[in-house]
Amino acid sequence: MRNKEMLLIPGPTPVVDSIYDALASETRSHTDPRFVEIYKNAIAKTREMFKTDGEVFVISGSGTIAMEMALVNTVAAGEKLLVISHGYFGDRFIKLGEAFGIEIDVLQAEWGTHVDPKAVEEKLATGGYKAVTITHADTSTGVAANLDVLVPVVKKYGALVILDGVCATAAMEEDMSKAYGDGKIDVVLTGSQKAIGVPPGLAVVAFNQTALEARKKIEKIPAYYCDIYNWLPIMHDPSKYFATPPVNLIYAYDEGMRLVLEEGMAARYERHTAYGRAVRAALSVYGMKALANEDIAAATLSCILYPEGINDGEFRSALAGKGLIVAGALAHLAGKAFRIGHMGNTTVEMLEKAIVLIGETLNEQGLSVDIDQAVEKFKEEALTVRN
Ligand SMILES: *Cc1c(COP(=O)(O)O)cnc(C)c1O
Repeated sequence: MRNKEMLLIPGPTPVVDSIYDALASETRSHTDPRFVEIYKNAIAKTREMFKTDGEVFVISGSGTIAMEMALVNTVAAGEKLLVISHGYFGDRFIKLGEAFGIEIDVLQAEWGTHVDPKAVEEKLATGGYKAVTITHADTSTGVAANLDVLVPVVKKYGALVILDGVCATAAMEEDMSKAYGDGKIDVVLTGSQKAIGVPPGLAVVAFNQTALEARKKIEKIPAYYCDIYNWLPIMHDPSKYFATPPVNLIYAYDEGMRLVLEEGMAARYERHTAYGRAVRAALSVYGMKALANEDIAAATLSCILYPEGINDGEFRSALAGKGLIVAGALAHLAGKAFRIGHMGNTTVEMLEKAIVLIGETLNEQGLSVDIDQAVEKFKEEALTVRN
């Protein structure tokens, strides 16, 4: 890999050489048949990943544009939205909804814990919710939503399920053909830079037939760039023009999606689950606990609390000096925890190296930790992806 540093933050994630090569291919006209063919393939691969009977959109923008596109095409001003929030990114739907005059109700979990599905059921039973947003993996807390429990509850009350997969898609199961009780996941949104492993800049959204019906009923939505009706003709025939697609990023994304499908979704879910478990088990040998309990911890990233005596700034800059980049924690956890990504094209070798570097840094900063034992623990838990 060409990278000089290990970028183990919750996105962007390490980019592999074949994706860099694709990114550096010659920039062509967005109507050049050679580019159009690649865009078509990228869209087809996206459909294949989500297994959707509806439509997918691959456009310029970050994950936040994907969130906006998902919401504004399905929930109209004055309609009711229930936000299930497990942290900072769950809360982002509150601001988004407010910007569009949507009526918001929120169920917020204390950071590191889950929203109780019973509370979700009680809220929905009061009636009138058009949609519910669920953040699959909240990047601020490392908490994963339990879709097997939450989605059937939402579908029982006939609301749309809008799933934020920005830190989960391609690493945690988001199968739009899967039945959850009376329904399916209606909308999944994501970005290119997290578990898909492509540089930032692409917003990806999938709508099923139910969600497309919801768009149809709204008639006029308060958006132009984010109106799926402006993009549908392009998704069906990428030689058409609405707004210039990011040609080089689409080359890169097509290659990223090729790698995703080549590995296979089931293998990817298994690999990421093992990564998450292994990283957390190894760090616990150092006396570092994850904020989320293991049974609700995300496969893609972990939010790790510092042991007594470790200074956030000094710890992360020492690691950066050794070539390992991890992220600080957000909001009230800033200074008290750090976040480590373990997703996308991150390898088991990189993660093992990270465990060693973290151990060395802790020892340099006054702790006395057993690196060999942590590495052993890591290998034991990561074994499933080694063979
Ligand atoms: C990163 C992230 C976002 C925001 O994506 P941007 O690309 O930064 O706009 C939204 N939701 C989740 C769960 C994320 O992890």
